[in-house]
Amino acid sequence: MSEEKKIPYKIYLSEEEMPRDWYNVRADMKKKPAPLLNPATLKPMTAEELGAVFCKELVAQELDNDNAFIPIPDEIRNFYKMYRPSPLVRAYCLEEKLQTPAKIYYKFEGNNTSGSHKLNSAIAQAYYAKKQGLKGVTTETGAGQWGTALSMACAYLGLDCRVYMVKVSYEQKPFRREVMRTYGASVTPSPSELTSVGRKILAEHPGTTGSLGCAISEAVEDALSHEGYRYVLGSVLNQVLLHQSVIGMETKIALDKYGIKPDMIIGCAGGGSNLGGLISPFMGEKLRGEADYDIVAVEPASCPSLTRGRYAYDFCDTGKVCPLAKMYTLGSGFIPSANHAGGLRYHGMSPVLSELYDQGMMRAISVEQTSVFAAAELFARVEGILPAPESSHAIRAAIDEAMRCKETGEEKTIVFGLTGTGYFDMVAYEKYNNGEMTDYIPSDEDLKPGFDSLPDIG
Ligand SMILES: *Cc1c(COP(=O)(O)O)cnc(C)c1O
Repeated sequence: MSEEKKIPYKIYLSEEEMPRDWYNVRADMKKKPAPLLNPATLKPMTAEELGAVFCKELVAQELDNDNAFIPIPDEIRNFYKMYRPSPLVRAYCLEEKLQTPAKIYYKFEGNNTSGSHKLNSAIAQAYYAKKQGLKGVTTETGAGQWGTALSMACAYLGLDCRVYMVKVSYEQKPFRREVMRTYGASVTPSPSELTSVGRKILAEHPGTTGSLGCAISEAVEDALSHEGYRYVLGSVLNQVLLHQSVIGMETKIALDKYGIKPDMIIGCAGGGSNLGGLISPFMGEKLRGEADYDIVAVEPASCPSLTRGRYAYDFCDTGKVCPLAKMYTLGSGFIPSANHAGGLRYHGMSPVLSELYDQGMMRAISVEQTSVFAAAELFARVEGILPAPESSHAIRAAIDEAMRCKETGEEKTIVFGLTGTGYFDMVAYEKYNNGEMTDYIPSDEDLKPGFDSLPDIG
């Protein structure tokens, strides 16, 4: 047995070792992400304007480009203790299977009932809503993980939770819906007749299976039209990346404990929150010139916002009720193909990651869905965990890199984010197992209507 094996299969931290602060990577960025703009005036959104939609404390976090460390309130840290610290796993079995000299680690965020990293931000957002004395929160959910996480957090704190669930997921994942209802949330398929924006979208696109962009518009309208409610979002926003930095902080503490320095850090990217959180402290070192890492975002070829999108101001939602964000985007008019199985279907990308990508601080690649499921099955069979399709994008990229190392003999250390489990994605696995899954890559022509929907702002 080699020296190597002194590193355990799972590196756990104690409660004491859990981070006490979130890390705000914006503090170390010389060029900051572009501010959110008011769609009516095209001026940066003020804290007061944002406060109509979001909780006060979260607005402060959203706008904070300067404080590197933001203390995690004890109440939130205590909630984290129920399911954190999450393990950093050395994928010895996968390495053995691939016969690669690469050393592979993954940070596993699926060890809670929501089955994903989303709970890290859900509890924070619910906590600040409760602290402000609100009655409840509204949100959207695509694949269902965010809605589930928020339902859990709201149940814990005694807040009302109203979820607009993208219709295709509502129909494909009835059990996700039932988990949310079990935690006391009300769940509405979107687009719905409950909101004026939902009615408008239904009139314009009869039979639409919905999109995250539509569901966001409905949830925002719902919050704005009910006293004591605010809207919360599970990805994309600066505040969400901040809360998710707990993933990266724990990863760094665990690696440092054994003197391990990663060469490559990989994460799947939907709106960018898990990746942004995982890479935060490493990106901080890179920005400060203290270390270098190869940081890679993996997105689906069917929804390629970083690899084929434009870096421009765009609407965050289909109904155009939200502030404008400067980000890599396919356009808010982009409706991703319904056959795509993963939940990485948002048209845009976190403004923080977009800016870092634009500065050349990280790379992005896109992968096709059948190859993602092939990687998911290989991983499940050797590592035991049934991965979420979203997470499996990162698995695909990690395996590809490990195979490259096998050819070159490089003993690279690869860390990837395993964001969640796939128990509610068995319809997608079934399609893959039946050989019925197809790969859809939009043509330039398919992407054109989305780009045409971009607002004309410098
Ligand atoms: C939501 C989700 C993602 C993608 O969202 P990000 O904000 O890009 O992290 C990835 N994996 C899982 C399991 C998710 O639930």
